[in-house]
Amino acid sequence: MKDAKTLYIVVPCYKEEEVLPETSKRLKAKMESLLEQGKISDKSRVMFVNDGSKDRTWEIIEQLHREEPEMFSGVNLARNRGHQNALLAGLMTAVNYADMVISMDADLQDDVDAVDGMVDAYHNGFDVVYGVRSSRQTDTFFKRFTAESFYKLMKGLGVDIVFNHADYRLMSKRALEGLSQFGEVNLFLRGIVPQIGYPWTTVEYERHERFAGESKYPLKKMLAFAFDGITSFSVKPMRLILVLGVVVFFISIVMLLWALLSKIAGATTAGWTSMIGSIWLIGGIQLLSLGVIGEYIGKIYSETKHRPRFIIERVLNKAE
Ligand code: UDP
Ligand code: MG
Repeated sequence: MKDAKTLYIVVPCYKEEEVLPETSKRLKAKMESLLEQGKISDKSRVMFVNDGSKDRTWEIIEQLHREEPEMFSGVNLARNRGHQNALLAGLMTAVNYADMVISMDADLQDDVDAVDGMVDAYHNGFDVVYGVRSSRQTDTFFKRFTAESFYKLMKGLGVDIVFNHADYRLMSKRALEGLSQFGEVNLFLRGIVPQIGYPWTTVEYERHERFAGESKYPLKKMLAFAFDGITSFSVKPMRLILVLGVVVFFISIVMLLWALLSKIAGATTAGWTSMIGSIWLIGGIQLLSLGVIGEYIGKIYSETKHRPRFIIERVLNKAE
């Protein structure tokens, strides 16, 4: 097909020498079948991003590119920058060549066969296609519980994210160009992408076990990532301080009245009334002040992110 669209599959890799041979084989087969069906152009590529691995990951990528430059590309980061940054590096490189880009983990946990559904959705006019896990059967109870609680907490804090979606998704060129306008350093891609807009849909897939090697996301990194997600998108935790301040302030007034009444009734020792009154009053004022300061910090915080204020889909205008 002459006007077939170009697909790039971006795969961040950190110490993935054990899985890369298999991953590249499966992705190649997938690309070839899409090419045969005329769904993608022959300029399509699988782009591996080496996130500063100290093992043979980059050598393997180099070799893949050397042997099949029309199938495999590589991006080598100067050092380890973490999954989200590595992914962004790949996306921002691929956007220069591709009409659509799919991001996927290297460990084959994301079902490669979901790619077909994503590409079809793209051809049906969707700019963002989220891969959504249909079940978490292969996850441990602990991982499932913590992950699902996290999605719920995020929703509760007013952050717009897609339930059970990790970073397996397709984005069109214009959606990626929208993404490139987000200048933030604390990257939480699955929170940013819904903010871009454009028509979107989801494709369900089964999450598999890691093909080989072990998770590069131990609990510590997972918690840091979750905390990052919350603090990058929500100023609600800070607003809670303000709410607490108001509540404590009101309680302090009640306590003050109660302390005074007790004194009038003569049921107190000397000094107790002023002591209890000031403790509550000072506590309330402090929390309230912190909350007010927090509101300003929240504003400064969102200003410093320099997020785009809008992304225009199209303009209808007949100029003179
Ligand atoms: N990854 C990366 N840089 C890192 C950690 C991980 O590029 O610092 C990649 C890793 O190679 C994999 C993806 O991010 O392709 C997801 O990591 P992993 O599968 O270990 O996470 P899990 O699936 O256990 O959450
Ligand atoms: Mg994994």
